[in-house]
Amino acid sequence: MSQEQTPLTVALSQLKLASKKLGLDAGMQKMLAQPKRSIMVSIDIRMDNGSVGVYNGMRVQHWDARGPFKGGIRYYPSTSIDEVTALAMLMTWKCAIADIPFGGAKGGVCVDTKTLSKHELERLTRRYVSLIAEYLGPHRDIPAPDMYTDAQTMAWVMDTYSQLKGYMIPESVTGKPVEIGGSWGRVEATGRGVIHCVKQAAENNRLKLGGASVAIQGFGNVGYHAAAAAKEIGCKIMAVSDSSGGIFYEGGLNPAAVLAHKEKTGSVQNFEGCQDITNEELLELECDILIPAALESQITRRNADKIKAKMVAEAANGPTTPDADKILYEKGICLIPDILANSGGVTVSYFEWVQNLTREQWPLEKVNRKLEEKMSKAFNDVEAIVAREESDMRTGALMLGVGRVANAIKTLGLWP
Ligand code: NAD
Repeated sequence: MSQEQTPLTVALSQLKLASKKLGLDAGMQKMLAQPKRSIMVSIDIRMDNGSVGVYNGMRVQHWDARGPFKGGIRYYPSTSIDEVTALAMLMTWKCAIADIPFGGAKGGVCVDTKTLSKHELERLTRRYVSLIAEYLGPHRDIPAPDMYTDAQTMAWVMDTYSQLKGYMIPESVTGKPVEIGGSWGRVEATGRGVIHCVKQAAENNRLKLGGASVAIQGFGNVGYHAAAAAKEIGCKIMAVSDSSGGIFYEGGLNPAAVLAHKEKTGSVQNFEGCQDITNEELLELECDILIPAALESQITRRNADKIKAKMVAEAANGPTTPDADKILYEKGICLIPDILANSGGVTVSYFEWVQNLTREQWPLEKVNRKLEEKMSKAFNDVEAIVAREESDMRTGALMLGVGRVANAIKTLGLWP
């Protein structure tokens, strides 16, 4: 990424582009560029060895004109207020594209989870939640998992928030385990949603998915479930990777077997019969579909020209910089943007919230059917703008998301 391009400057330049295309006035642009609230906290915890650990935490609430703030919590050493603000903004557009009644937020804690015990992680999570609790709530701001947080983390979030209020409030958080009110299908939702989009885009681009080769960067929650869903529809998973590097097997990997190996050894590498490769090599592989499912800014102007995939489906948030976007577009590569491709997670989070509020539990088939309906509608809504504007898919998606939020703000009016 060039020095001037941080996740926030990228998000702001995307907003500027969409605003211009939509003809939004300067006042609206100024309002949308700013989060409603940014909270910074210092999280002090007792470590297992008796010492004190101090960690920086944050929660950014971007806009809630269409409904309560909604967004994941990420634990990552280098996360920053700029990154979290950018991700909160993307959440606002994403919820609007998915047409679910939420605004956008994001949380972050600067921590390397690999250096903490489970007890330390629990104390960190509970202390963090207690520090931001007054700004959370089922009708105010509803957290969910993101990088290096999972269903167990969400159980601690829910329990801490509920203990502070004095009664159990499952609708205060999504992505929690099923036994405490989580939804069937939430864990797989983001990865499955990515593959729904791939299916629709493949139809439009006349790409045959039976036997199509797929490379996936990041083999966590999203990457693994995208791999499993892609294999289910007959794709060949040629390569996957994690933070320590990747593996390549032309004949096609079995995602479940790779996951078992990763759980046993801590990494996907050294998997029997496979060639170890680097993350850079994975991105540049000759394949049909490339799915970045790890970090931001992985496809940049430095490597965009070397991408050989026919389609890029952004499972991660912000994996492609604007410079790289342009290069991929000029190369004729079909790019399904993050705010559409990975919206399956927040869509099933919305289903989870509805189930909690109505004290219901839907069967998996119902969740998956409704997810597919929502993703298809979002994809078609974006495609309609792409056709009308003769634009790339990111511009179409941004116009849809930003336009819906701006309309909601206009309708609400400015008080007083
Ligand atoms: P996760 O923590 O479950 O997995 C992250 C994966 O990325 C791990 O396999 C990790 O080893 C790998 N990774 C970390 N650093 C890497 C590096 N430098 N190179 C290659 N791989 C690296 O996280 P997740 O929930 O799967 O999230 C992945 C991405 O998807 C993030 O960008 C997140 O914002 C986005 N996302 C997640 C959800 C969700 O529901 N979890 C929803 C929408 C978007």
